[in-house]
Parts: sequence; C-alpha cells; structure tokens
Amino acid sequence: MTALSSGLMSYEEALRRFDPVIGLEVHVELGTRSKMFCGCPTDFGAPPNSQVCPTCLGLPGSLPVVNEAAVEAAIRIGLALNGEIAPWCRFARKNYFYPDMPKNFQVSQYDEPIAVGGWLDVPVDTPDGARTMRVDIERAHLEEDTGKSLHVGGATGRIHGADHSLVDYNRAGIPLVEIVTRPVEGTGALAPQVARAYVAALRELLRALDVSPARMELGQLRCDANLSLRESPQAPYGLRTETKNVNSLRSIERAVRYEVTRQAGVLASGGRVRQETRHWHEDTGVTTPGRSKEQAEDYRYFPEPDLVPLAPDREWVEALRSTLPEPPDAHRRRLQADWGFTDLEMRDVVAAGAVGLVEATVAAGASPAGARKWWMGELIRRASATATELDALPVTPEQVARVQAMVEDGTLNDQLARQVLEGVLSGEGDPDTVVAARGLSIVSDDAALLGHVDAAVEAHPDVAAKVRAGKVAAAGALVGAVMKATRGQADASRVRELVLDRLGAAG
Ligand code: ADP
Ligand code: MG
Ligand code: ZN
Repeated sequence: MTALSSGLMSYEEALRRFDPVIGLEVHVELGTRSKMFCGCPTDFGAPPNSQVCPTCLGLPGSLPVVNEAAVEAAIRIGLALNGEIAPWCRFARKNYFYPDMPKNFQVSQYDEPIAVGGWLDVPVDTPDGARTMRVDIERAHLEEDTGKSLHVGGATGRIHGADHSLVDYNRAGIPLVEIVTRPVEGTGALAPQVARAYVAALRELLRALDVSPARMELGQLRCDANLSLRESPQAPYGLRTETKNVNSLRSIERAVRYEVTRQAGVLASGGRVRQETRHWHEDTGVTTPGRSKEQAEDYRYFPEPDLVPLAPDREWVEALRSTLPEPPDAHRRRLQADWGFTDLEMRDVVAAGAVGLVEATVAAGASPAGARKWWMGELIRRASATATELDALPVTPEQVARVQAMVEDGTLNDQLARQVLEGVLSGEGDPDTVVAARGLSIVSDDAALLGHVDAAVEAHPDVAAKVRAGKVAAAGALVGAVMKATRGQADASRVRELVLDRLGAAG
C-alpha cells in the first residue's frame, strides 16, 4: 500500500480499494425582508446587535409569529426539487447550548419537515464529457439561523487561542431552509466533483427561484459534506464523517477528496472511522475532528408549543407551483440556443458556474460572445490565481458589460480593457472611473500619433526602407514600436494607416 507518511492514502489507491458514499446538507438563508419569527430586518452588514428584538433574543414572554414569505419560499424550494409538500407539519425545538443562540434552543423542524423527497439532476463534468447525475433529496425543512461569534485576540480568529469573544445576534432568527440529500451512491472517483456540482446546481436553482442570493462567501449558502467509505458497492454503508460549513464550491470538492484519502488511510491500517463532525481548514487543506457523534446527539426535540402547526392550503401550493421558473437544464438549453454557444463552450461556462454571470452580463447589454470572453478568459484566470469563486470577484456583470461596450465602441482595445478590469478588481471604482483615473483610452488622434510614427521610422531606418520599397508586411514592426511607445493605447489600425502614408506605401 502506498500510505503517505501522514497516514493518508493516495486518492487513486483509495478509490481502487473503497467505494465512497456522500451526503450533503445545505443551509440556505432566505432573502426575506424580515426574520423567521419576528419583524426584525435581515440586512447584511448592519452594526452588531442593531437588528434584534425580544423575540429573536429569546427574552421571557416574547412570542414568535411565522413569516409567511419564508414558508412560501420553502414550499417553492420543495416543489422545485420535485418533493411533496406536507399537508400538515410542525416546528420543533432543538435544545442545545451555544452562546450565539440566545434562546438555548433553535426552532427547526424535525420529523415533520415541510417538504419530503424529490431529486435534483446535476450536470457533472467528467473526463469523458458531460454527464447528468440524479441526486435524491431526503427532505427540506425550515428553521432559524443562529447569531455569530467573533473570537478576538487569537491568531486564527478561532475560539482556540482567543482571549475573549463577542456575539452578534443580528443573524439570529434569519430564516433558513435546510436541504438534505439521501446518501449518494455510484459516483466512484467522481465523488468530490459530484458534491461540488450538486451544490453548484442547487445554488443555480435557488437563484432562479429568487429565494436567496445564495452567496457562499457571505454565508448565505453553507454546506456540510458527509462522506463514508465501504469495501464495495454491495457492502452496507460505512461510518460517516460530517465536514461542517465548507464555504466555497472549490472547498467542497477539496474537503470530500481529503476525507476520502484520510478515511481510506484509517481503514487500511485496521482502524475505525469515528462518526464525528469535522472542520475544514481552507489554508492547509485538511479536516480536523470536531464533536463526536458516537452517542447520537440528544437534542431533546419536542414540538414548539408557541407556534401553531403549518397546514399549507392545497390551492396555495398549486398557485406556487405555477410560479416555478423553467427547470435549470431546460433553461441552460434555451440559453445555449439564444447565445449560439457550441456544446463545448456551454459546457465550460456551466462547469465554471458562470451561467448566471454570463446571463446577467448579456442582460446588461453585452453580446453573449463578449460576455463569455471576459468571464471565461481574464476573469476566470484572476479567480483561479486568487483561489476565489468567479462570482465572488469584486466585479459585477454590469461592469463587465460596460467594459465590453467600450471595446465595441472603440474606446478600448482588449489590452486596455484588461487593465480596466484589473482596476475595477482592485477597488478603483467603475470602469469609467478607472478609464478616467488611469487615462486609459485608445489614442486615435492623428496629431498625437504622428510624433510616435516619426520616432518609429527614425529608430528603424532599415524597416522603413523595406516598406518604402513596397514590402508592406514589414510595417508591422513599426506599428508594434508605436504601440509599445504608447503603452498599448494607440488605435493600431490608424497607426498602420499613418505609417504607410508616411512611407508612401499603399495599404
Ligand atoms: P445529522 O443530523 O447527523 O446531520 P442528517 O440526516 O441531517 O443527519 O444528514 C445526514 C446526511 O448524511 C444526509 O445527507 C445523509 O444522506 C447522509 N448520510 C447518512 N448516512 C451516510 C453514510 N453512511 N455515508 C455518507 N453519507 C451519509
Ligand atoms: Mg444535519
Ligand atoms: Zn427580532
């Protein structure tokens, strides 16, 4: 066996010896204006503890009232995932202590979730081409979010090593929907990609439903990734670990892959995988143990006595069904036809999670080819160089559309456009601001260009002689010299005309 010194097994060997099973729990923060059980606002980034009231702070005597918009969003999510909407369900108290949870319990749903069953078809990019995998859904339920702890004084921002902690309850009580898959079998070596592709597809669906911006970097979509290994696809499931709060698509793939190599190492050396939660460390690329789940946690669930059961009216459910967006795969096919992309181009856009970005850029006025060029070129390079998700780059589809418009109207060439995007990404403002501040527009004013043309002719007398003698192709070197002298800002085709004109050669 090729066990690595750390006790990990190489991924390839792990897959020869074991069959992985994954399970994904995704929490999505609903984009409702007010919280789940009170009227407090949900705006992100408000001063700490400025969006709280007796109800979401769990003060004695306060009573919760269910947010209808949250129930509506949960039903639409359940329907979009092809699930059944429960005719009757209840909230339950999940009892545990944590400082960021002011009531000492979380109102959630337990054995009576609002949506049951269903599936999501997930496009997976494999070495042999695109393939669709159906991921079965166990349930989707409503609950409330907890507050946020800020650990101060340590090097890592984690509680370990901190000297004090601060708590912000603004997030406490924001509505969440938790979507839980059935165990996903049959992925083989593709388990990490399937996990990532599932979350990407779910995120796309949630955005199409307009129930949440679902931005992972803002914690609006959080994923716990479960993984177990077994000897063969016929064997019963092995014990699983649950890696918590993995906050980007890339990290999901890396965390699942890491757990495969770690669990395989444990099993191959005769050990037993502990059923536990684990934490993902983005910087080192490893998971470390969290809580043990060996003695099935006892949350003392019981029905929430302060809330009446939910019994969504059938007509309401059917009315909501009619508001569902086009299913994502049909939507993708329609976009591909509208945009005129080849299968390969579309596949790359899908794999990059850029469908929504290209769509929004086109909606902001760019041509589909122009939108694709920037997102799948310069911007995807920037994202991977900085290990960021494409949609977390600090540039908006509107800004990309503006840059492309300036290329099309001749204000910028591609090289200048890249500099403008770089300025936008480094926080220098909108494209127009960057263009003005950096003085980045194409110079096509003859008076400004002629000086450079003369200088180039003087500096390269041999080339100039060739052009005069009729070797028009040689003019490229002179055009290049002018472009260099103007740091790419000259209008290259005008420069060429001026060079030929100066040397008495015909274009
Ligand atoms: P918990 O409360 O422990 O988080 P949940 O039911 O909320 O449990 O979610 C467990 C997730 O793990 C589900 O997605 C489920 O499909 C998945 N799962 C359950 N058993 C296994 C297993 N042996 N291997 C991999 N995934 C599993
Ligand atoms: Mg869970
Ligand atoms: Zn409140």
